[in-house]
Amino acid sequence: MTSQPLILLVEDEAEIRRFVRSALQAEGYRVHESQQCARALTDAAARRPDLVLLDLGLPDADGMVFLGGFRAWSHAPVVVLSARQDEAAKVSALDLGADDYLTKPFGVAELLARVRAALRRRKTGEHGSVVRFGDVVVDMGRRLVRKGEATVHLTLMEYRLLELLAQNAGALLTHRRLLQELWGPHALDNEHYVRVYMGRLRHKLEDLPARPRHLLTESGAGYRLVP
Ligand code: CA
Repeated sequence: MTSQPLILLVEDEAEIRRFVRSALQAEGYRVHESQQCARALTDAAARRPDLVLLDLGLPDADGMVFLGGFRAWSHAPVVVLSARQDEAAKVSALDLGADDYLTKPFGVAELLARVRAALRRRKTGEHGSVVRFGDVVVDMGRRLVRKGEATVHLTLMEYRLLELLAQNAGALLTHRRLLQELWGPHALDNEHYVRVYMGRLRHKLEDLPARPRHLLTESGAGYRLVP
């Protein structure tokens, strides 16, 4: 019998911890609780959770500190729990590698749906493929990008763009397709989004960013990853 996923709940408010824990346990998840950022990092290293639910407002440090430390060695999904007024913090958390967020107050159904979705993405990724171009390796199962011997740090959006290109290696992806998939239908007029992120990817992954050999522009149409 495979053991149930372990969820690390990092939250200082007892009431929210109680609510979240009982909802998760009722679904059969195992739950470990940490109330402080420093303790959560130690607990995460010792217990290797399958998913983290992370409050951003912790008594000893910002939840962002946990995220930075955790992402240095783990690709397990992190779902941020944030208050409505933390809009900017939420976006920073996503840039730092959080996978999703829940805005407080949230209900049981919403919580469980996000947890299921995050765990499902991880599972799909486990069997995901590896794409290589030049001396770059994109390991989609482990969400790991290397150039030569070095791990390349990408923001969430940079990674998602690279992943989409890698999943469709060799194919031309139109501006529209990229905008639709990465930013949603409301962003279809913002071609410059893709241009900016492609520039960042080239800078991090191409030997000569100004003369890309793998992350190519198809003039007037879109982009293509050529392995
Ligand atoms: Ca809090």
